[in-house]
Amino acid sequence: AEMFGQLTTGLESAWNKLRGVDVLTKENIAEPMRDIRRALLEADVSLPVVRRFIESVSEKAVGTDVIRGIKPDQQLVKVVNDELVQLMGGEVSDLVFAKSGPTVILLAGLQGVGKTTVCAKLAFYLKKMGKSCMLVAADVYRPAAIDQLTILGKKVGVPVYSEGTEAKPSQIAKNGLKEAKGKNTDVVIVDTAGRLQVDKAMMNELKEVKKAVNPTEVLLVVDAMTGQEAAGLVSSFNDEIGITGAILTKLDGDSRGGAALSVKEVSGKPIKFVGQGERIEDLEPFYPDRMAQRILG
Ligand code: GDP
Repeated sequence: AEMFGQLTTGLESAWNKLRGVDVLTKENIAEPMRDIRRALLEADVSLPVVRRFIESVSEKAVGTDVIRGIKPDQQLVKVVNDELVQLMGGEVSDLVFAKSGPTVILLAGLQGVGKTTVCAKLAFYLKKMGKSCMLVAADVYRPAAIDQLTILGKKVGVPVYSEGTEAKPSQIAKNGLKEAKGKNTDVVIVDTAGRLQVDKAMMNELKEVKKAVNPTEVLLVVDAMTGQEAAGLVSSFNDEIGITGAILTKLDGDSRGGAALSVKEVSGKPIKFVGQGERIEDLEPFYPDRMAQRILG
């Protein structure tokens, strides 16, 4: 199923109920708004986010002057579109680079979300921008993770710094950064260990790594299939370690899309990139307006 497919269909039933209506009123939008609410909840958008969204759209839809030539149903589509764009952060959020020295990007996230793949994808993206990169393997719990990163690094053509599985992640990250400085590398991307679920040891380790390398970006990698739990996940990582943004992966899968709509609202931090496939070129900046268009079909 196409992501957002169900959401798009759900929203259509709202517009359809406004056929033949002359002007939007509190009364005649009540039922369409219930459709919108249901569609968002079924798409796994978090409940508090849905509540605020509905409130805001209702207010704006009734309050706006009738735009000549635009039918009421289209007027509501426009209000929903604008509100979706705002909900997702409004503008595209570019990566921030350090003013001097290497920019450090710390990647965090649960196991299997696509973190290691994102390391390679980001390096590929930055290389295309003309930046030199280094990957640092600070996931010491799975030897396979280091091998995987090494293989991906070769594929992209960027060096991978690793010290095996015995060293401490914070120490590896620190040494990796030192090496990158020596080589005048523009960007250092640090891969960290994930767990199956949020736990104290993982958070503490991330805090230590963060302290050791003072990253410019701390990006939480979130699997779009996470559904309703995405909101809580983003909040807890943000509260514990402080993130600067998120990367949403597996948008090519049949997720219902709720995470894309909840992240910014629950954490105040933007989605910066989306991953839409397993290949290293399948990463692109997150454009709230294009995503809204995709949702509205
Ligand atoms: P990590 O445990 O977070 O490091 O996850 P990996 O990078 O090893 O990815 C886990 C699996 O998800 C791998 O099989 C990847 O190929 C796959 N994967 C990663 N990103 C995407 C994506 O955007 N789309 C799809 N379809 N698969 C992805």
